[in-house]
Amino acid sequence: MLPLLMASYCLNLLLGAVGAQLMHGYAKRVKYKIVGFKQGLTLRKGQEVIETYGIRIKRSLPLANACLCEVDEGDASIKSLAMDPTIDFIEDDLQGEVQVVPFLTMDVKKTNQEIPWGVQKIGAPHVWKDIRGEGVRVGIIDTGVDINHPDLKDNVKEVGGVLDCKNIIDDNGHGSHVAGTIAALDNDIGVVGVAPRVDLYPVKAFDKSGRGNISNVIDALGWCIEKKVQVVNMSFGFTKNSMALERAIKEAYRQNIVLVAAAGNSGGDDSVMYPAKYPEVIAVAASNSANKAAWFSSGGPEVDVIAPGASIPSTYKDGGYKSMSGTSMASPHVTAACALILAKSSMSPAKVKEVLTASAIDIGLPKNKQGAGLVNVSRAAATIKNARKNIENCQL
Ligand code: CA
Repeated sequence: MLPLLMASYCLNLLLGAVGAQLMHGYAKRVKYKIVGFKQGLTLRKGQEVIETYGIRIKRSLPLANACLCEVDEGDASIKSLAMDPTIDFIEDDLQGEVQVVPFLTMDVKKTNQEIPWGVQKIGAPHVWKDIRGEGVRVGIIDTGVDINHPDLKDNVKEVGGVLDCKNIIDDNGHGSHVAGTIAALDNDIGVVGVAPRVDLYPVKAFDKSGRGNISNVIDALGWCIEKKVQVVNMSFGFTKNSMALERAIKEAYRQNIVLVAAAGNSGGDDSVMYPAKYPEVIAVAASNSANKAAWFSSGGPEVDVIAPGASIPSTYKDGGYKSMSGTSMASPHVTAACALILAKSSMSPAKVKEVLTASAIDIGLPKNKQGAGLVNVSRAAATIKNARKNIENCQL
C-alpha cells in the first residue's frame, strides 16, 4: 500500500505545481543554482545576503555552507549576486546518475543460497568465522532499498529520502542490488553479501530513472552524518566538478567517514568521475571474473583499487534478484571490505585506505586501471592482525 500512496502523493505534488503555473497563464522556466558562501560567513548571514538580491531560497545546504536557489530564466539578479564579496561561487545544481550498464542487466532465478563470484574473489568467506561486520553502520546513497526483501530486511536499520517528494521506495532496483552486495543475509536463500551482519542505512537520493542532483547528494551525506554511519557507498557519478559537493565530501571525511565511490562507466584512461575523483574518496574500478578490467570501467590516476563489477548477481527491487554490471557493482564490494576492516579495528578513513591498498593484489593491469590492485579482505584482515602483534611486541 505504501508504494501506491507515495506514488500518488508525488503525482499530486507534480500536478499541483503544473496547475499553479497554468493559473498564472504561462510557465516561467526556473533554474536551480547553488550559491556557496565564503569561509567564515554563517549560513544565516549568507541567506540574508541572497534575500537582499530578491532571489528565492529553496533550501539551505549546511554541509556545503551554501543554499539551493530558484532563479527565473533571464533574471539578472543572480549576476549581481555573483559580484557580492560574501559569495564564493554560484554553480548549476548538476545532475548525475548511477553507474550501471543497463543493457547488461539480466534476470537470475534464485533458490538455494549462492555465494556470488565477486564475494568469493575478494576472499570474504575466509574471514566470516571471525568478522561479519557486526555493529558497523554503512550508509548507501542510491535509489533506495527494498525494505521488505527477505534477503535484506534484517540488516536495514533505517531508511532516508531526500528527493522533493520524500519517496523512500526503491522504484529503480539499483539501490537494492548495491545493498545486497554489501550485506545480503547469510541464510538459505538467494545470495550473501561481503559483510552479511552490518547495519544498513540506505538513503534515496536518485529517482526511478537513476538520476539525482548535487543538492540531493549533499542532503544525503548530511543524513548519513546524522545517523553516525562509518562508511558510505556512492555508486554514482557526475561528469563535472561541483564546488559544493567537494565541500560536503571534505566535511564528511573530516567527520571520520570512509567514503567509497564508483570510478565511472566511461571506459578510457582519464575518465574518473566525481565524487570518486576527490582525494578523500576511495575510487573503485571494475574487474571481471578473469581478473581483467571490465571494458566499461573508467580509468585514471585517481583509481585506488579494482573490485568485481561484471555480471554480479544480487538482490533487486520487489523481492527479486538480477545480474548487473558497472562500477556501481564494484564499489559496494569495497564499501563492505572497509566495514569488515572497521569491525576488526577502529581507525581513521586514511588508515582504512592504507590497509585496503596495502593488502590489494596486483593483477598486472596498468595502474590507472587497477590502482593498487584487486581488493582482498582476508589479506586486509591479516594486515591488521600483524599490526596488532607489532604493537603488542613493542609493549612487551
Ligand atoms: Ca541469502
